[in-house]
Amino acid sequence: MAQLIAPEQLLAPRLNSHVGEILPSTLVDGFGRVHNNLRISITDRCDFRCVYCMPEEMEFYAREVLLTYEELQRLAGIFVRLGVDKIRLTGGEPLVRRDVTRLVEALTRLPGIRDLSLTTNGGRLEQFAQGLWDAGLRRINVSLDTLDAERFKELTRRPFFDAVLRGLEEAGRVGFHPIKVNAVAMRGYIDDELIPFAELARSRRFQVRFIEFMPLDGDGGWGRAQVLTAAEIVQTIHAVYPLERVSPAGSSDPATLYRFLDGGGEIGVIPTVSEPFCATCNRVRLTADGKLRYCLFANQETDLKGPMRAGASDEQIAWLIVDTVRQKWAGHLINQTGFEKPIRNMSQIGG
Ligand code: SAM
Ligand code: SF4
Repeated sequence: MAQLIAPEQLLAPRLNSHVGEILPSTLVDGFGRVHNNLRISITDRCDFRCVYCMPEEMEFYAREVLLTYEELQRLAGIFVRLGVDKIRLTGGEPLVRRDVTRLVEALTRLPGIRDLSLTTNGGRLEQFAQGLWDAGLRRINVSLDTLDAERFKELTRRPFFDAVLRGLEEAGRVGFHPIKVNAVAMRGYIDDELIPFAELARSRRFQVRFIEFMPLDGDGGWGRAQVLTAAEIVQTIHAVYPLERVSPAGSSDPATLYRFLDGGGEIGVIPTVSEPFCATCNRVRLTADGKLRYCLFANQETDLKGPMRAGASDEQIAWLIVDTVRQKWAGHLINQTGFEKPIRNMSQIGG
C-alpha cells in the first residue's frame, strides 16, 4: 500500500542540507554579483491589458495562491537579513490589490530597507497617491507608453489615458520626486513620439525611461524587428536636444541615464535586448505566487511559499534563497540562437 508522506518530510532533505553552516549576510552568485535588490510582485491581476505584456483574456491566480501580506512581510524580512536593502513592489498592477497601503507601511518599517518603490500603470494613482505617501512611500514609477489617447487605448486595451495623466499630476502634488515614467519602446508605436516624450521630461522634470521591448509578452508576438533599440532612441533625441551620458560604466541601475546638455533634465534607456547589462545585475524577483526567480528570462524558479506553508523556519527559507542565487546564470540568452521565450509572461513574473 502506498505510504502517505507529509509535505514537511518531503522537503526535509533539501531544507536541512545546511545544518550547522553559518548563513551568509549577502546574496552572492557564482560570478561574484551581490544581490541587494528585490522586486516583489504582489498580484498577477491587472486592470489594463497592455499588448506587450498580457493577452486579452487572462486567467488569474486564485486568492489562496497569492502570498498573503503577512507572508510577504516575513519573506521580505528574510531577504533583508540576507543583505537586500532595495525593494520594488510591482505586479500585475500593485494598486489593484486590496489595502496595498497597509503592506507599504509595514515594509517601510522593516529595519534595513533603504529604498522602497512601486511601479504602477497609473490608472488608480489619483486615488492612491496620498495614501501611499502617508504610508511612507517616496519613490514611484509610472508606466506610460504614448502621449496620444487613441494609441493608449490600442496599447493598453483600456480607455484610461486621462486617469493616468491625473494620477501623474496627483503624485507630483503629493510630493513624489523624481517621478519616473516608463515607456516600452515598441517599433511602430513610439518612434514618432520620442521627441514629445523628451519634451515631457524637459517640461515636467519626469525622468522618462524607454524600456526596450522584451520577449515577455503574453501574446507571443515578440520579434527582434519590433525592438526599437536604446541607441536609436538616444540618437533621435540627441539630434534635437543634445544629450550627454551620465551613468558611470558598470552601474547596477538597468537604466543608462543621459542629461540634456542645456540642463533641461534627463532621460534613461533600458537596453535589455540590444546591450544586455547582466554582468552588473543585482536583482532577484519574488512572484505573486511565492516563487523566487533569479532572472526575468530564466524559467528556473524556487518555490518559497510551499516550504513556508509547510512550516519551514526563517533559516531554512533563507538557505533556499541563498542556494537559488548561487545557481544564477551568467546572463540571458535572448541574443543566442535557440533562445526560448520564458513560459510566464511579464505580468505573471513582475516587471
Ligand atoms: N502594472 C504595472 C505597470 O505597468 O507599471 C507594474 C507591472 S509591469 C509588468 C512593470 C513594467 O514592465 C512596466 O513598466 C511595463 O511597461 C513593463 N513591461 C511589461 N511588459 C514588457 C515587455 N514585454 N517589454 C518591456 N517592458 C515591459
Ligand atoms: Fe498590466 Fe502593467 Fe502588464 Fe500593462 S504592463 S498589462 S499595466 S501589468
